[in-house]
Amino acid sequence: MALRQEPYVLVVGGSDSSGGAGIGRDIETISSIGVRACLAVTAVTVQTHEAVREIHHSSPSLVAAQMCAALQANEVAAIKIGMLATAEIVVAVAAVLRDYPQVPAILDPVLASSSGQQLLEASAIHVMTRDLMPVCRLVTPNLIELAFLAGTDPAADENDALRQGRELLATGLQALLIKGGHAIGARSADILLRFDQEPARFDAPRLAGSVRGTGCMLASAIAAHLAKASPLEDSVRKGKEFVFEKLQENAVT
Ligand code: PLP
Repeated sequence: MALRQEPYVLVVGGSDSSGGAGIGRDIETISSIGVRACLAVTAVTVQTHEAVREIHHSSPSLVAAQMCAALQANEVAAIKIGMLATAEIVVAVAAVLRDYPQVPAILDPVLASSSGQQLLEASAIHVMTRDLMPVCRLVTPNLIELAFLAGTDPAADENDALRQGRELLATGLQALLIKGGHAIGARSADILLRFDQEPARFDAPRLAGSVRGTGCMLASAIAAHLAKASPLEDSVRKGKEFVFEKLQENAVT
């Protein structure tokens, strides 16, 4: 029996021993928005802030069992998915999501660390686009991930990114948030694409310095606001505001 019937976000992802990214960041973010988190661990990683030293992934059945137990134990109102490591784990997670279509899932399609280490095996990308992305309420790629998922070169400009995003959306996705943080320029725009609506832009000034785990934070903050019953676009706006505040606190000039 659940201890408290309040909304939870189920976090599905890998641990990061440095604390910079992964499920540690996710739980920190979700609880600071006033929502509780429960867990399904896909991988244990050994990391410093400069390098990924080791990756040990869970078996697909262990991931699915953790997800099902978390969903049975708690009032899960949203699911946040990060590092998935292998194609078999992607398949297992998609199968659980299909059994819980009423719970919105936010997928941060983590492919690599900022230090360049691959965090999802290459053969899993096709499975992710085919099986997992269509059952997620929102997918949040940065420009590099977008190009990989769309099977093309990184976008040269915003129009190019929009074209890639629309192509990806047309493969059966519900919504896509293109994160423009890797683009060059003074401002950084994220764009929310949905099938039957005009794109929504979320503009923010670019801050100096860099903070690890911003992708984890954004997807977790969006999931936490969805769990608090905010509509998707409001959840994205509030998620962006949360990450911007965190970046401001940590900005190095
Ligand atoms: N490690 C884990 C477990 C992650 O989930 C992620 C990103 O989601 C990373 C590392 C990469 O984070 P960063 O890009 O900050 O290195």
